[in-house]
Amino acid sequence: MPRPRQTRPRDTVPEPEVRSGNRVSHLRADRARLGGERPAELPIDPAWLPGVVVRAYGKFFDVRLRNEARTLLSTTPGKLRRERRRTDLVAVGDRVWVSDVGEGEGQIEAIAPRERVLARLARNTIDTEQVILANPDQVLFVFSVREPEPHRRMLDRFLIMAESQSLPAIIGVNKIDLDIPGVDGGPSLAERFFADYQAIYPVRYLSAVLANGLDELRCDLAGKITVVAGPSGVGKSSLLNTLDPEGRRVVGEISSATGKGRHTTTATQLYKIAGDAETYVADTPGIRSIMFHGVPPELLPECFPEFRPYLGECHYPDCTHTHEPECAVRAAVDLGAVSRERYESYVSLRRGEVVEIP
Ligand code: GDP
Ligand code: ZN
Repeated sequence: MPRPRQTRPRDTVPEPEVRSGNRVSHLRADRARLGGERPAELPIDPAWLPGVVVRAYGKFFDVRLRNEARTLLSTTPGKLRRERRRTDLVAVGDRVWVSDVGEGEGQIEAIAPRERVLARLARNTIDTEQVILANPDQVLFVFSVREPEPHRRMLDRFLIMAESQSLPAIIGVNKIDLDIPGVDGGPSLAERFFADYQAIYPVRYLSAVLANGLDELRCDLAGKITVVAGPSGVGKSSLLNTLDPEGRRVVGEISSATGKGRHTTTATQLYKIAGDAETYVADTPGIRSIMFHGVPPELLPECFPEFRPYLGECHYPDCTHTHEPECAVRAAVDLGAVSRERYESYVSLRRGEVVEIP
């Protein structure tokens, strides 16, 4: 059960927040809580226009309209603020209805219940979370075959973050034009590196330069809100530009600067991908702070999907799968049913080793 909410004056809270539930099932708890606090049927006025919040600036929100290529800079009326006291008011990713008040401005009239949230613990509070993104459907982790070389531990960290938030993950392997073919028709450099992952996650081989794999990627993204993350320099901006979102990004934006660039902020932004489907990609620097917080060690095994068939089969019910005898996970590694590299990643993360994300 969530602990009782801390009482704080609302108008001193600068950022959206929700209560933090049990971390084990926090997403499911969020879903129940966020969905359960409001009536299932929203009172929709025919004059209200449906849209999605694509960017937040304090009390102002850019709402991209669903049925026309317009964005309204919108505010929230006091009535709505009072109704939604028990959760954060509006976050990027929220599906809303706005009334057009003219001159490119709107007023948010209703907000659909959130299906999920990507959240992190708020600073200086023990019992609140900040919503980084509402309604994420999945996450796309982009790495490159070379330049820069893929980093196993970092990829595992990303995947654990996705698992801990119950977000389906897709792995995008970009710069496949730089791949090195295998000898005698054997697996290429990329295929060798990502073989372990292909058994667990969808892996897409891509080239922003040659436009390889983009049709398949487009299908993966269609109609969804996809968080895109990965180290800098792997070609995320290039890929997204090739997919033709509104509001193009500058290629090389981060790597040419301090190596941090826009990732030092926590502002999330959604980009709509051209086409009639409601397809958005999310640029969410806040993902780094989620990763920074990590997951509690006892939840780590669950975050490796290939371990799950063996969890509960160990001799000791509190087995950490690092050194205990008669450990079903370690037995699966010895049998080759679980990748040794992935298992070693688990052990290193369980020891609390930190992976820096450039
Ligand atoms: P980001 O930091 O992940 O957004 O990466 P960028 O999109 O800024 O790309 C970093 C560098 O990689 C740029 O010099 C791009 O031209 C280059 N690049 C991006 N995609 C590809 C690709 O598919 N193949 C090759 N060879 N280079 C690419
Ligand atoms: Zn075990």
